[in-house]
Amino acid sequence: MKSLLLFLAILIPAFVFSQDINLNDLNNDRDGYYKSRGILFSADSLTRLGYDIVLNEKEQQLDSYLKELQRDYIKYSGAKFPPANYFYKCRNMIDTSLIYKMFQKMPKGAMLHIHSTAMGDAEWLVKNASYMDNCYFYNSDDGKETYGTLHFYAKDKAPANWVLVKELRDKDSDFDNKLLKLLTFSEADEGSAVIWEDFEKIFDRMSGLIEYLPVYKEYKKNALELLLKDNVQHVELRSGMHGIYDLDKEYSYLDFAKMYSEVISVLQVQYPHFTSKIIFAGWRGNTPGGVMKYIETAFAIKKEYPNLLVGFDLVGEEDAGHTTDYFLNEFFKKDSLEKVYNLSLPFYFHDGESTLPSDLNLYDAILLKTKRIGHGVNLFRFPTLEQIAKQEGICLEVSPLSNQILGYVQNLRMHPASGYINKGIPVAISSDDPQIFNYKGLSYDFWTAYMAWELDLKQIKKLALNSLVYSALSQSEKDTAMKYFLDEWDKWVNSNIK
Ligand SMILES: [Zn+2]
Repeated sequence: MKSLLLFLAILIPAFVFSQDINLNDLNNDRDGYYKSRGILFSADSLTRLGYDIVLNEKEQQLDSYLKELQRDYIKYSGAKFPPANYFYKCRNMIDTSLIYKMFQKMPKGAMLHIHSTAMGDAEWLVKNASYMDNCYFYNSDDGKETYGTLHFYAKDKAPANWVLVKELRDKDSDFDNKLLKLLTFSEADEGSAVIWEDFEKIFDRMSGLIEYLPVYKEYKKNALELLLKDNVQHVELRSGMHGIYDLDKEYSYLDFAKMYSEVISVLQVQYPHFTSKIIFAGWRGNTPGGVMKYIETAFAIKKEYPNLLVGFDLVGEEDAGHTTDYFLNEFFKKDSLEKVYNLSLPFYFHDGESTLPSDLNLYDAILLKTKRIGHGVNLFRFPTLEQIAKQEGICLEVSPLSNQILGYVQNLRMHPASGYINKGIPVAISSDDPQIFNYKGLSYDFWTAYMAWELDLKQIKKLALNSLVYSALSQSEKDTAMKYFLDEWDKWVNSNIK
């Protein structure tokens, strides 16, 4: 029955318009031509994301003002239009844009896609974390560790080739800048054929710095506070939930969950509206046995922290790692574990982050009932999956700047999400790994989406609303979050109109 309804939904608009327009009747009559053009355009407007939003008078006023600024910006920036260039080349033109300044203050709802050790401020890591006692730097190119990897060791316990950061800094006044470069991308990475190798090297370098217990709590608090100040109210973190250590021991998965819960509670004192969840993220390059272990671990954590851990995912370079169906047997076992634990652990798959026509992972993500799709850049290749995503409300976590910086889409005007938005497929905006991309928060991605796809206020509001609607918050948490968002939205609109 459902498939029949889907079929009719596709057919009905075509039938209606075929009554109004006959291409053979268009006899070089300009009035008739533009009438027909208007009918076709209106038809597309009825599917566009945000078509159901009714702007109040003040919102309409702000929408007109923003549109005017948008048009002027596009006209005057010309070939330097930032979304059409590699992010780092023209980012100063975003910083000085009035719309960017307005968007920084705009309530954005939730960050649905961000990674646990790439969510904060790279400069904070260099200027604070790496200044802590006992921080060592792997100072060799021998390949045993990535050059520049950071780790804390007790005095005289550091293995060969590890040098105290303090010693290197004392010898080189430019050390901090060089370290920042080792931890972030820049203009030099445009078009790199080894960008994922470099990306993974940065993760290698940082993890021993961030996961050192005295750094970890401050880092998390600082990173989440950055997002709160950028007017993100809810954060869903992809995390492997392990690795925290101090000079005496390594902490367990459950310790990780406890520590993160404590960070949330501390922040909620100052920001009572703040909420956060974790999606367990294993590595897609692992063996089937390794992935089974991830799934079992995720259930064991969820048993103790059912409201914190909300889902399961595999991360890493999609085209270099295993296909999603490679782990089918392991994913099939999830159902029986859900019965054993009496808990549900839905998938939130990173899939479709690929330029390969032969990448079919999105079929598996959908068949395995993924709640959302991380990226979905190549969904445009699969019309049936597009229909299902729309029909079943499977939201795409779109991170435009990540997709450009990592080389999937060069000119963001041509990002497939522009088409997904026009087709009414649920989309929310995220920033994936802003710390490695060397920017903070979510405002750059919202700005890029608004400018590159020439969106309007209805669509921007819908993107922010989607981030809450398709979040893993419980219904009552969602109701509270939505009320907070709408109040803040009204305040933001009021503060931007004369
Ligand atoms: Zn990601």
